[in-house]
Parts: sequence; structure tokens; C-alpha cells
Amino acid sequence: MGLVVQKFGGTSVKDAERIKNVAKIVTDTYAKGNNVVVVVSAQGDTTDDLIEKAAEINPNPSKREMDVLLSTGEQISISLLAMAIEKLGYPVVSLTGWQAGFMTNSNYSNARIRKIESERLHIELDKKNIVIVAGFQGINRYDDITTLGRGGSDTSAVALAATLHADICQIYTDVDGVYTADPRIVPNAVKLDEISYDEMLELASLGAQVLHNRSVEMAKKYNVKLEVLSSYENKPGTEVKEVIKVEKMLIKGVAKDDDVARVAIVGLPDRPGVAFQVFSQLAKAKINVDIILQSIGRDGKKDISITVPTSQKDSAIECLNECKDLLNAEKIELDDNVSKVSIVGAGMQSNPGVAAKMFEALFEADINIKMISTSEIKISVLIDKDKSKKAISVIHDAFEF
Ligand code: ADP
Ligand code: ASP
Ligand code: MG
Repeated sequence: MGLVVQKFGGTSVKDAERIKNVAKIVTDTYAKGNNVVVVVSAQGDTTDDLIEKAAEINPNPSKREMDVLLSTGEQISISLLAMAIEKLGYPVVSLTGWQAGFMTNSNYSNARIRKIESERLHIELDKKNIVIVAGFQGINRYDDITTLGRGGSDTSAVALAATLHADICQIYTDVDGVYTADPRIVPNAVKLDEISYDEMLELASLGAQVLHNRSVEMAKKYNVKLEVLSSYENKPGTEVKEVIKVEKMLIKGVAKDDDVARVAIVGLPDRPGVAFQVFSQLAKAKINVDIILQSIGRDGKKDISITVPTSQKDSAIECLNECKDLLNAEKIELDDNVSKVSIVGAGMQSNPGVAAKMFEALFEADINIKMISTSEIKISVLIDKDKSKKAISVIHDAFEF
């Protein structure tokens, strides 16, 4: 007898048939003697549809009102799933984010969970209810609704598992685990039986949307046992955990992120303090800079290129144009036709030649590299967006999983 947290994503609850299927998985787990807390996302494309609906009315709505709107998607799912479970004859209660005690900061549209006030959850679990919680949402200190960022229901589930000391947090989705690349783009991608928190965190942060990156961060911090598995097929998925068995795999996966733009600050003076000036302006404007590249100085001039999330490209350009004279820069350029493609694996630390292999694969496919960035367990390159799917495939082939 234990406590199990199960999370079901949008595709897994997209229509009546899929909801009934989820009700079956949940009640089977409960019938085995477990306490069960379930987190659900909005059905199918509901969140995207709501975003479109808002755009028809106001192209630039406040983030607060967007959160009020988007949170409705998950509220539909919790009630429908609760009804399906009622029909199977099991005790169940649905709770919105605030009813379940999700307290967040006030960063609307991308809020962070501060804590979960779990009193109500414990009351319902003591009553032996199956508890269905709306993912992706909470309230801030002003009792306003907040959302956790796209894909945030995974983080809701892990936060619940951590707070309630669950035995396991199962993330049910439309693929049967974590693969060496997105199986929808690379058909010969291989399913991993297990992956470390660190590798999964890199993959998720570099664009593999199978898990919300903050959910992995939190699972690592609170040592939550995490499993990614299919709501369509009853078979083991991928375990995400601290230490995994030593194997030969050099890299664990390839990921791509299309949500990136490159900004170049051209013709800066080549003297001390210039990078400091550029980045303090960007920091003041709260721009999230990812990759940074500085050219070699020539004739007293140099260039600095950065990448930023697409949503911040306009603010970055605006900020840099405003301080162009202050920085003595010649011009600011934008290239938003780019993608970031990355390989991840703890094995690359002790194996030379990994970067060469990746770059060779790109060269053979005639794909030009615009920027490179590395850390101990990942290598990322910036390339033209229309080549990104091809890049993932050729890199994946080169590493022979
Ligand atoms: P959910 O709605 O269940 O949260 P998501 O669409 O957020 O599902 O995440 C699942 C999707 O993640 C899969 O359909 C797959 O296309 C994509 N994906 C990207 N990279 C990977 C990967 N390395 N392994 C598995 N799935 C991946
Ligand atoms: N419904 C939200 C989204 O689409 C949250 C989630 O699915 O995790 O981003
Ligand atoms: Mg998701």
C-alpha cells in the first residue's frame, strides 16, 4: 500500500474514450490498495485553442487575464475524469490548483510553485478518495490564478509527489518513454530504460518536450522517483533517477529547440568593459541570454552574438537599439530563422571525439554551423531552422544507438 501520483497529458485525455481509458488506469492502481493522486492537463489542443481565442479579441492581453483563461482547460479535464471514475463506482474528488493548495509567485504565465498547502489533499486522501488535481495552475499571494508555463502539468505532478512523499510519480503520455530523439522526427530513435536526472534535465531544457524541464529539476532536488510511460500501451516506460547503471552509451539523446533567435551586436569597440556593458543592459531588460559568441577583435572592432528565446527577441532588439550609441555599436542584427540542435550524455566527459563526430555528420549533410556552445554533458549548435529535422536525423545516425 503506497501513494502514487499519476499525470496524464493532453493527448491522453483528448476525448471521452481516452478519459475512460485513464479512469481505468487510475482505478486499477487504486484497486491494488494504493492512494492515488492524479494530475491532468487540458484536453488535446485546448490550450492552443484558448490562446487563439484570446488573440482574436486582443493581440496583446495582460498575462493575468491569459492565466485566468488558460487555467479553464485543466478545470474541464478534472471534472470529466472525476465523472468517469464516479461511473466506475470509485470514490473521487476533483480539485483546482488553488483547492489543492498550489501557492506560486506572481510571475503570470510562467509562475513558480512556492509551496503546496497540503491540508485539503490529506483530508481527501484520509477519506480514501481518488484525488484529481488540475495541472499547470496555482494562485499567488493575491489569490489570483497563475499558470506554470507551457508543459507545466509535469511540474505540478512532481511537486505533489515531493510534498506528499509519494512512492512514485508516473508521467503518462502519448509515447512509451524517453527516446534517444523525438520518435516523431527520428523513426529509428531508441527507447531508454533509464536516464539520469542530469541528462534528462539537459534534454528537457534543450527542447525534448516529453518532460517539462522544471519537473526534472524538482524531481532531482527532492529525489522523486519518476517514470515516463504510455497511456496507450501497458508496458514499462523510462525511469528517471539519480544514478544509472554504467553502460557504453556515449550520448543519451539528440534534441532540438526551435524557440530561439540570434541577435548580433556588430562593430563594438574592442576594449575592456564592453561585454560587461552589453550584458548589464540585457540583464536590466530581463533578457534571458543563452549562447554567447564573441568574434576576435580586428581593427579595434569586435562583434558579439547571442541567442534568446523567440518570445524575447523583440525586447532584446529594442533594448540593444536603445543603447546602441552608448555601446558605440555599429548595428544590431536579428536572425530568427534558426534552431538549436543538441546532443546530451554524461559519457562525453571521458570520451574525446564526440564533438568531431557531431560536426562531421552536419558537414556531410551540408549543414552550416552558426554558433556552438558546450558544457560537460552537452554540445549545442545553432543552424538554419529548415535544416533542423535533417540535422537531428543525421546526428542520431552518426552515433549508432
Ligand atoms: P503530454 O501532452 O502528454 O504532456 P507532450 O506533447 O508534452 O505530451 O510530450 C510528449 C511528446 O514529446 C511526444 O509525443 C514526442 O513527440 C515528444 N518528444 C520530444 N523529444 C522526445 C524524446 N526524446 N523522447 C520521447 N518523446 C519526445
Ligand atoms: N495545458 C498546458 C499546456 O499545454 C499544460 C500542460 O499540458 O502541461 O502547456
Ligand atoms: Mg507535456
